[in-house]
Amino acid sequence: MTTDKIEQPPFVIVGGKVWNGIADKPLIVEEILIKDGRIAEMGKTVIRPTGATIINLDGHTVMPGLMDLHVHVTQNPKCPLESITQYSDVFKGLYALGPLHDLLMNGFTTIRDACAFDHTYVTVDLKRAIQQGLIVGPRMFVAPHMISPSGGHGDLAGLMASEFSYALKVKNIADGSDGICRAVREEIRGGADWIKFAGSGGLGDPYGGPDITTYTQEEMNILVRTAHDLGIPVCTHVYGTEGIRRAVSAGVDSIEHGSLASAEDLSLMEKKNIFLVPTQYAILHDLDQLSDPKYTACIPAFLVQKKLKYAESLRSAAEHIAKSNVKIVFGTDAGCFLHKDNWKEFPEMVKHNIKPLRALKAATSTAAEMLNHPELGTLVVGKIADIIAVPGDPFHDINLMGKVDFVMKEGKIYKHQNP
Ligand SMILES: [Zn+2]
Repeated sequence: MTTDKIEQPPFVIVGGKVWNGIADKPLIVEEILIKDGRIAEMGKTVIRPTGATIINLDGHTVMPGLMDLHVHVTQNPKCPLESITQYSDVFKGLYALGPLHDLLMNGFTTIRDACAFDHTYVTVDLKRAIQQGLIVGPRMFVAPHMISPSGGHGDLAGLMASEFSYALKVKNIADGSDGICRAVREEIRGGADWIKFAGSGGLGDPYGGPDITTYTQEEMNILVRTAHDLGIPVCTHVYGTEGIRRAVSAGVDSIEHGSLASAEDLSLMEKKNIFLVPTQYAILHDLDQLSDPKYTACIPAFLVQKKLKYAESLRSAAEHIAKSNVKIVFGTDAGCFLHKDNWKEFPEMVKHNIKPLRALKAATSTAAEMLNHPELGTLVVGKIADIIAVPGDPFHDINLMGKVDFVMKEGKIYKHQNP
């Protein structure tokens, strides 16, 4: 059965093989004692406090709660333009309740929302509502809007001429040092955990290609410096070499997509300790279907044309990523497709030659490192008890990541399906 938020601490998890988020593979069967939302003890056997609930996860791999650090919970992939331009901010918030639930049920106990297109700070409100227990969802980190130059990837005006008046009201467009400085400070005032900006063009806009660089070096420098001065990290939507080089030089913390990166770009990122969130499912999974008119019937023509034009370059960049030693963090761009499918990033990464261990670390310990939250992402005594389980060994069958049947977030159980 599926249970909805049972609060009966302490818990003792028994019977499962534990992967702690760091080791090369699942270790031997270990028990875990959870008290007050934290991992209190781990070992061959642990204390069973009076009144403890025993959870038997025999036959399962027990691992840290997963993190998807690139989602858009306010975006409905069934009607993307409508959800971006016609949903009110309140409706965007209501829509997000479904995706938040789906992500948590998939075992994602932490997410980073990588921007909404709204007039207020809907994702900041969602984060606070989850913190206060008003709604159910993963722990959220939020980049409220994508700061973008006029005519850049985040500028809605050209995407939907008929919605021009809406686009003009969205406050993510900033040009020049003063404009960018103000935009960054306003984001932080509004509750941003991360600043996001459009460092290059993309596939989902009608302007130039994803290899076009949209901000000057000076603009990127002032953006990153303003955010860092206020203690806030910066991520950038960027695809190709020039954008990556400028973003690296400006000192960003993560590159989102990087889908046209060369081997040299990736080694530069590695040297500067800049994380890559490659969102491979969203970008690569349908490349083989783009010549099928049935598949493309509902996709905007410009998007199909762009993907076809860059298909080979996107495939070869995926090979560079697999061969590189850059720190990969799991992110999906869910919202461009259904949030309940976000786990498919795991098999997509493995299909493109990223080892299962690297993919699983990307969603646990490496993700926690990028967030600079060492209390998350590993199963170690003292850490926050975000714990999930899958039936079997995902190191041998990565598709098991779509079968998460136990979810605990901060010591509370949100899902427990008995076989
Ligand atoms: Zn995105």
